[in-house]
Amino acid sequence: MKNNKKQEIIDLFKKHNNFVISSHVHLDGDAIGSELALYSILKQLKKDVLIINQDQLPEIYRFLPNTDKIICASETSFSYINNAVTGKNNFKPVLIVLDSSNLDRIGNIFLDISNFLHIVNIDHHSSNSYFGDFNFVQPKASSVGEIIFNLAQKMDSNIHEDITIPIYTAITTDTGSFRYSNTSAKTFNVAAKLVTSGAVPDEIANNIYKNAKLSSLKILGTALSNLKIDSTGNISWTAITRDMLADANANDEDVEGIVDKILSVKGIQIAVFFRETPDNSIKISFRSKGSYNVDYFARKFGGGGHPNAAGCQINGILSDVIENVLKKLQQENIF
Ligand code: 5GP
Ligand code: MN
Repeated sequence: MKNNKKQEIIDLFKKHNNFVISSHVHLDGDAIGSELALYSILKQLKKDVLIINQDQLPEIYRFLPNTDKIICASETSFSYINNAVTGKNNFKPVLIVLDSSNLDRIGNIFLDISNFLHIVNIDHHSSNSYFGDFNFVQPKASSVGEIIFNLAQKMDSNIHEDITIPIYTAITTDTGSFRYSNTSAKTFNVAAKLVTSGAVPDEIANNIYKNAKLSSLKILGTALSNLKIDSTGNISWTAITRDMLADANANDEDVEGIVDKILSVKGIQIAVFFRETPDNSIKISFRSKGSYNVDYFARKFGGGGHPNAAGCQINGILSDVIENVLKKLQQENIF
């Protein structure tokens, strides 16, 4: 459980020349924003840098700078990724994993993890397993974006828009627009510096929150019309099937934000959103108000996250999974 010092991470960035940056499946604003900002920081140091993720970049993040540099592993092959990583001379780059509590979170991208010289783990999940050769885990940080910003400042990076726009995006998405309990005075301090150096809050907010496809509003409508409150009155929940997605002409990206909407119901403490995935399992998102720790609960199902926002994936039939999860949640005696 060793946490490295900021300076040790910076020295590592300076010492090596080849880096691969990756983050978790189901990419979110913090994963992408922190990747793109770190990419620019390392590029300023004239390093060779690749960004490789398992999943495709969600459409709403295409406004960010340098997204054309991101390689999506599921659109290529293991041999393509392998060649990209080791290059012609079979060198070993440093792998930097962002926003991922364990190494499995990045998915099945790399044929051979021993192709990397070191693994560097930069994260803000308190459940982090310290899987890196180097670890920089800061559970108090709002987002990995905030951590990357602190590193950039310490490194005297030129903080321009290729860094400020992705980091502001990381922070605003991971704090629910500065509303969640991970928002601190430090977060606002960092945000102020980002705005001073080129991030424009309303432009970024318009790109992320006022750019919805009709299909994502339709699927939100379906989710809301099936919204239920459990018998204890403490849990709001809803579920989306593959058929519902098809009827709304929607894809898996379009469900983003549904769980946050259903948390807004007056009087409930926890929101649970179930959805069938293309590979026949059930993805569950948990959100909570106040002190109800959904990270702790999601870990019981092999998942994790943060105290007020967590998730997991379970194999099974939707109706069985719903019954099982709601029953276990009610048995927690936390209400
Ligand atoms: P979401 O519900 O938006 O997918 O995820 C909320 C939070 O929980 C994020 O911090 C995300 O990284 C984490 N999370 C979601 N699913 C999983 C999972 O299957 N395993 C772990 N360890 N964390 C997850
Ligand atoms: Mn994050």
